[in-house]
Amino acid sequence: MATSKKTIRPARRVAPSKKRSAKLPPIGSPEALQLLAVGQRRALELLGEDPTREGLLDTPKRYAKAMQFLASGYEKKVQEVVGKAIFHEDSREMVIVRDIELFSLCEHHLLPFFGKAHVAYIPNGKIIGLSKIPRIIDVFARRFQVQERLTTQVAQALMESLEPLGVAVVIEAVHLCMMMRGVEKQNSYTITSAMKGVFHTDPVTRKELLSLLGGLGRTAGSGGR
Ligand code: ZN
Repeated sequence: MATSKKTIRPARRVAPSKKRSAKLPPIGSPEALQLLAVGQRRALELLGEDPTREGLLDTPKRYAKAMQFLASGYEKKVQEVVGKAIFHEDSREMVIVRDIELFSLCEHHLLPFFGKAHVAYIPNGKIIGLSKIPRIIDVFARRFQVQERLTTQVAQALMESLEPLGVAVVIEAVHLCMMMRGVEKQNSYTITSAMKGVFHTDPVTRKELLSLLGGLGRTAGSGGR
């Protein structure tokens, strides 16, 4: 008799764990780099490689450095990234920054997911330097993520920094863990959205945004669309 196996995921922790052993070296330190490299050298062996061959000699260290960069968002704060780039302005018209390149790592497989983020807000006395929006995204994208949480965190950060009438964040991305393994679907992409303030409460505003964004899905690098 076939038994249906449905995996029920445990409740997801929303924020990264604050429990960090005192024995661990500081994040980003040379000691942490060294330990990451040791672990990766071992992983190469366990996967069937010879880490002493020429091409792989420095790979564990390069990997460790790359991962420290890709996870550098844990050490960043939105307020520091935004700095003084918030300006008083009376405009209450929608601002959209679209097609922002986005790269992150899925927390389930540590494989990349990448695509585009589109961010909109309606000011309420304050605007933000436009170049800061991609930098805010990177604060959260350079962590181990799920696309859903990344989307919400970016929206929340903008709500807190700008206190606007509303914020909308739409992310479309392809996930290598889906493309290279598992279901091996090369042409599917995932769209997530977070609507705050008027984008949440006012269907007309939301509709205007979606029509301005139009044609989602062309940009995630999934080809053929
Ligand atoms: Zn994954």
